[in-house]
Amino acid sequence: MTTLTGRRVAITGGAQGIGRAIAEALIRSGATVALGDIQVTVVEQTAAELGSGTTGHRLDVTDPASFASFLDKAAANLGGLDVLVNNAGIMPIGPFLDESPDLTRRTVEIDLMGVLTGTRLAGRRFTDSGTGHIVNIASVLGTLASPNAATYCATKHAVVGFSEALRQEWRDTGVRISAICPGFVRTELIAGMSAPGPLERFLVVNPEDVADAVVQEIAKGVSRTVFVPKAVGVVSRGSTAAPTALVDMLFRLSGGNKVTEDLDKEKRAAYQQRLEGRDDEA
Ligand code: NAD
Repeated sequence: MTTLTGRRVAITGGAQGIGRAIAEALIRSGATVALGDIQVTVVEQTAAELGSGTTGHRLDVTDPASFASFLDKAAANLGGLDVLVNNAGIMPIGPFLDESPDLTRRTVEIDLMGVLTGTRLAGRRFTDSGTGHIVNIASVLGTLASPNAATYCATKHAVVGFSEALRQEWRDTGVRISAICPGFVRTELIAGMSAPGPLERFLVVNPEDVADAVVQEIAKGVSRTVFVPKAVGVVSRGSTAAPTALVDMLFRLSGGNKVTEDLDKEKRAAYQQRLEGRDDEA
């Protein structure tokens, strides 16, 4: 089993889903964790359930002051900070022209600007001390594109590009940066979405699979982009060299488009409401 004893990790969007699974895996490997989330009650409850000194804090990743305060509290509680996992995210699904400008802006602010802000704040701390690791949770939609997910694809492509640029920029600083690109993960974020049978087996994973990959990346201490599962990366990266018409045809033949086009709106209603109603607590 991978050992991360003594590592101190801050995780955004840690109340539920992938963030919570990452926290659980890190704690099992010996790390200590601080969770930040806009759902204050849920994040405090999650921290209490995880135990092992885990703390839960209010965090809005779109607000740099809130982010700075979260990192300060995390460092104070943990006795320092070695890793930031930028995990908080939302995913609106539907035709771009039907998406409200407010939801577009909010998605960019959370999924992209939140990552940039966190990376800047933690990056300053880490480059000052010459050590540290930033792990950005991107997506396979950060290298592939899918209909009905245009804004999300835009942000996740940006997160991959951003992480890969800093990988080079920070080459000699001792600070590491990783982009993790999961396929689809069984959390509330994909409520009402499904992949056709064979694609399901290829593309859809559990939050624990992503969490294991994060633990491995931190343990390896290298800067790179990884896919979960790995095969998704081969297809995704490989397709960039193929002619566009062929890529689109294969995407449709595999049923890839159905994941974001065939929505069960009833099953997605609660998530959709959470997106539009801003689920943050006062
Ligand atoms: P989730 O909805 O279960 O969890 C996301 C968490 O982020 C929630 O706890 C939410 O309250 C929090 N959050 C939202 N806005 C925030 C804000 N402004 N400030 C702080 N916290 C905020 O979703 P998840 O599936 O666990 O997603 C986690 C990350 O993984 C996201 O970045 C998502 O894009 C990415 N991802 C998910 C999938 C998937 O299929 N589920 C696939 C690839 C990548």
